[in-house]
Amino acid sequence: MSNKVVSYFYSPDVGNFHYGPGHPMKPHRLSVIHSLVHNYGLYKKMQVYRPYRASAHDMCRFHSDEYIEFLQRVTPQNLQNYTKYLSHFNVGDDCPVFEGLFDFCSMYTGASLDGAMKLNNNCCDIAINWSGGLHHAKKFEASGFCYVNDIVIAILELLKYHPRVLYIDIDVHHGDGVQEAFYLTDRVMTVSFHKYGSYFFPGTGDMYEIGAESGRYYSVNVPLKEGIDDTSYFQVFKPTIQYVMEFFQPTAIVLQCGADSLDNDRLGCFCLSTKGHGECVKFVRDLNVPLLAVGGGGYTLRNVARCWTYETSLLVDEPISNELPYTEYLEYFAPDFTLHPEIVTRQDNANSKQYLELITKHVYDNLKLIQHSPSVQMHDVPGDAFPSNDGVLLDEIDPDTRNPQIEEDKRIEPQNEFYDGDKDEDKADGTVSTPSQDKSKKPKSKASDTMDTT
Ligand SMILES: [Zn+2]
Repeated sequence: MSNKVVSYFYSPDVGNFHYGPGHPMKPHRLSVIHSLVHNYGLYKKMQVYRPYRASAHDMCRFHSDEYIEFLQRVTPQNLQNYTKYLSHFNVGDDCPVFEGLFDFCSMYTGASLDGAMKLNNNCCDIAINWSGGLHHAKKFEASGFCYVNDIVIAILELLKYHPRVLYIDIDVHHGDGVQEAFYLTDRVMTVSFHKYGSYFFPGTGDMYEIGAESGRYYSVNVPLKEGIDDTSYFQVFKPTIQYVMEFFQPTAIVLQCGADSLDNDRLGCFCLSTKGHGECVKFVRDLNVPLLAVGGGGYTLRNVARCWTYETSLLVDEPISNELPYTEYLEYFAPDFTLHPEIVTRQDNANSKQYLELITKHVYDNLKLIQHSPSVQMHDVPGDAFPSNDGVLLDEIDPDTRNPQIEEDKRIEPQNEFYDGDKDEDKADGTVSTPSQDKSKKPKSKASDTMDTT
């Protein structure tokens, strides 16, 4: 089945950024995942790249100039000069200004863009960027821990070569930023599976949001209730994606693998196991369509690391042992030190079989209304975002030396504090967060009534 070429994009610095004390989004998880991927030996099965860094110009393909200029200029030190812009760009509690913010955006966005480029040039069949997947970012503002929407920018790049791009989102939150960007077009179909209801963030994504104008029926939403388990999830995921493939016939797929849909996530309320989550990734891999896999949410660090490491192994089609290899982060995985620890679910599945059947039927009925595989005429193909030889193929340098000095010299080290421990990540008593509890957990500014979470 798999002699697929897989490209993996990782900036060695991307895990060193810090949103601030107590913030659930921890870029450090990216260092942990990379260390596991490396120590499982999975790098031998992929082309490992230090990715391109997105410029402000790249970001402005989707975002407004004034918003990106703001991201470029604002720092924790000069924040007081920008007070009137903070609420305008929705920057503050959920989306704080931290040291190196623009560099962080540039790294995760550049990696998704690089992945799209490599797919366009047939350099690989699958591209992986666990640092990307920031699906809530909007054209004019930050949202839900996301500043620049790397997914939208990558899809715009794919559209230079691909007549139809499918976006699939398995994060526990609705993929609102991506849906909104492509709401009016029939060239991108967005399909999001997420918790909906009880004011769960971001509050959009009901089954009647189906797209508009030329994009009518090209936005697909699968609203789910809390506590969904592997069996129920796959019961709705598999037929939905099968119908979508049949009616839309995409030529490229972007899969957002948000890991906050896992059981015991700090912010999520679903009960997927790593294996169940991975089942969706495997299903999409086996569709044999060029694939960009990105990360997204995921707030119980050890489980996010397990999940994306396992999914890397699925994408390269290389089984890995349940026993975790030694890494400098091994202590995070106590007491079992395994890839697939036993799941103890503390939540009931609120999704009945009937409810899931109803949603699936609704999706099918809508998809039937679109024209079968619209033929999009390709006109002039715009130039690539950057020359294809820009990325450094780390494999070709030395798999054990991840920081060639030339590249090292070019990079700017963020001066933020380093990771402050796993303690604020998980509650000591192991209780599961519910969406309503999430609201109260985060410190809120009195003045603003911004939405929390991801
Ligand atoms: Zn999320």
